[in-house]
Amino acid sequence: MNVVSIVGARPEFVQVAVLSRALRRDHTEILIHTGQHYDVAMSERFFEQLGIAQPDLDLGVGGISTSAQVGEMLRKLAGVIEPLDADLVIVRGDTNSTLAGGLVAKHLLLPLVHVEAGMRSHDRTMPEEINRVTVDHLADLNLTTDAAAVARLAAEGITGGVHVCGDVMYDAYLEARARPEPMLPAPVAEAVRTPFDLLTVHRSENVDDRVRLRAILDAFAAAPRPVLFPIHPRTRLRLGEFGLELPAEIVALEPLGYLEMLTLEARARTIFTDSGGVQREAYFAGVPCVTLRDRTEWTNTVDAGWNHLAGASTEAIRQYVYGTLAPPPDRPPLFGDGDAAERILAVLESDETRGIVAEARKVRAARR
Ligand code: UDP
Repeated sequence: MNVVSIVGARPEFVQVAVLSRALRRDHTEILIHTGQHYDVAMSERFFEQLGIAQPDLDLGVGGISTSAQVGEMLRKLAGVIEPLDADLVIVRGDTNSTLAGGLVAKHLLLPLVHVEAGMRSHDRTMPEEINRVTVDHLADLNLTTDAAAVARLAAEGITGGVHVCGDVMYDAYLEARARPEPMLPAPVAEAVRTPFDLLTVHRSENVDDRVRLRAILDAFAAAPRPVLFPIHPRTRLRLGEFGLELPAEIVALEPLGYLEMLTLEARARTIFTDSGGVQREAYFAGVPCVTLRDRTEWTNTVDAGWNHLAGASTEAIRQYVYGTLAPPPDRPPLFGDGDAAERILAVLESDETRGIVAEARKVRAARR
């Protein structure tokens, strides 16, 4: 099979890693990087640490506004995918690259596979929610992390081509944690010697809004222990634009590599985050998580008692900065068994997929 895989942002590099390796055993994968995240800290280091093959095509669509970015991706992706004679296109998650890749696949009448389908925050002010809802409705195959996602899709009338495969991020996590821990950069190594909390904030709803960003940061003023804060480039930009200072207890760090990030997550007392990936990794690691959002699509971790929604309320967050979250007694396997990539591959090699690929070829041939 001739597969086009589209990635562009940091979480997608983690999501593509294990599946890409599995796919390449017997199939041809053309990896397209849209360039949504492009520098060493946000992109290159992930390819290196996760052993991902270099992208076959890098479109260099950089940091422009959401709509302009999607528009530019559509134009460039259509131009490069059309001549590839692909059997199918795989996108994952909820980024602008996911949306653009999904739209282009369907414009070109190519079968579309959505990995991590069926997630909903039910907050349509989030660009990620728009992206995931749209792509679920466009996809020929929706591959979910769990049965609850299947039920959410069914509630929206999507029943065909839906499979539970588990979470490819869990596959990547297990592989990475089985490796020796990386050497931490000097300031980080120093900071993790004593108990600490970990903080990440980068969602538009939090960092593009001065009041929300300020409210989140204020919660850590006079925190009883250091708060390690690897700062996403967008957040750093906004801190500068808004003229916001970090409280003294926050230790500002450059974005970390994946392996370094997992090490910090595993050692943190509590993880404060608005990241979808980090909420799940906190669960994988068995570290209590406080989510700095009003809603989350990872409600399963909340229901299991490991994740707590605090929004951007200084008071609500502060309660967790000062209090101690006791880990619940159980951590059921909500994200599969670490074999999501193999299960996805099995779906891609099934008669069902072969049928979808053959039918799409027929439709394209008829249009020529
Ligand atoms: N991550 C990382 N270094 C950092 C912050 C996050 O390696 O400094 C990793 C994190 O461990 C997870 C992924 O990036 O695997 C999540 O990406 P991000 O938070 O950017 O996006 P989201 O998951 O919210 O879409």
